[in-house]
Amino acid sequence: MDWNSFLGHHRQRGWFANAIRSNRLASTFLLVGPDAVGKRTFARMIAKTLLCLKNDPASFDPCGACEACVQVEAGTHPDWLQIEREKGKTALSIDQFIGPEENRMRAGLCYEIRMKPYSGRRKIAVVDDADTIGVEGANSLLKTLEEPPPGSIIFLISTSLQRQLPTIRSRCQVVRFQGLSEDDLAVLALRQGIANGPEDAKRIAVMAQGSLASFAVLLDDELREFKSQLLQQFDTRPFDFPKFTKALITNMDSAGSDSQAKRDRLKLLIDFVQQHCQKKLYGAIRSDDTVKIESEVALIKRCIAAKEHVDRIVAPAALVEAWSADLASLCV
Ligand SMILES: [Zn+2]
Repeated sequence: MDWNSFLGHHRQRGWFANAIRSNRLASTFLLVGPDAVGKRTFARMIAKTLLCLKNDPASFDPCGACEACVQVEAGTHPDWLQIEREKGKTALSIDQFIGPEENRMRAGLCYEIRMKPYSGRRKIAVVDDADTIGVEGANSLLKTLEEPPPGSIIFLISTSLQRQLPTIRSRCQVVRFQGLSEDDLAVLALRQGIANGPEDAKRIAVMAQGSLASFAVLLDDELREFKSQLLQQFDTRPFDFPKFTKALITNMDSAGSDSQAKRDRLKLLIDFVQQHCQKKLYGAIRSDDTVKIESEVALIKRCIAAKEHVDRIVAPAALVEAWSADLASLCV
């Protein structure tokens, strides 16, 4: 991967290129934006730019072929650190920041980033799933964010500024990412072999609505079928919410035995309903139907709140019940 094949986000690239050239690159960044639009890859590209052994960082053009570039791409560069939420866990653990109990402060990201860089340049760290840092994890990370080792860079990857604790937010430079443009998505659909030709690519790009995550749905026939049945049920009056709830829980459970897989599926299902309500909202605005406008806005708000809770609660099935009961009372 080089900057030529990296899709979109030109404003953010320009901003980093300037900061690197003028030698005023900050140390801690919060990359905020929708899921699967390229924030992690962006952080990796910046790491390559800074660690490439062939091209100077100021050129903002890592060669992609030297040992450092290859190692960053593979995640094996000794100066590249990355943590992410472990499988089956709902949050990043404090051990990942400051080491396991028997080895506290002698392992983990906050420890390793203070080590002398092998390359003689700098350490670069990525904290993925930063939406799930939690208070304990945040407290262990604060000192590192406050006094980062000279030259080091930390990227926190997040989907929403609201989900960051103020103590974290205030110590980071926020870089916002938007959804990918339809043109970028069409290029990607062709590159990944999802589309049969440019016309097909355009159609897929429109459906994907700015996110690569939606590609997964487009490729999954069963899920696409379920989506259309679910939305049909949602639009049927009277709204049969026990049936709706049951369908959701069954589908969520079918995502696998892993608790995180279920939660990710549930977020996707809630997203189906939210996008559907957004479409209906546009229709209601066009026909100036105030009752419907109010109802759709309330439904959308309820969906957003539900998605934010998915990772925080112990029993996702209880959330499904509460959420669909609220939908029943809000829809007209
Ligand atoms: Zn290189």
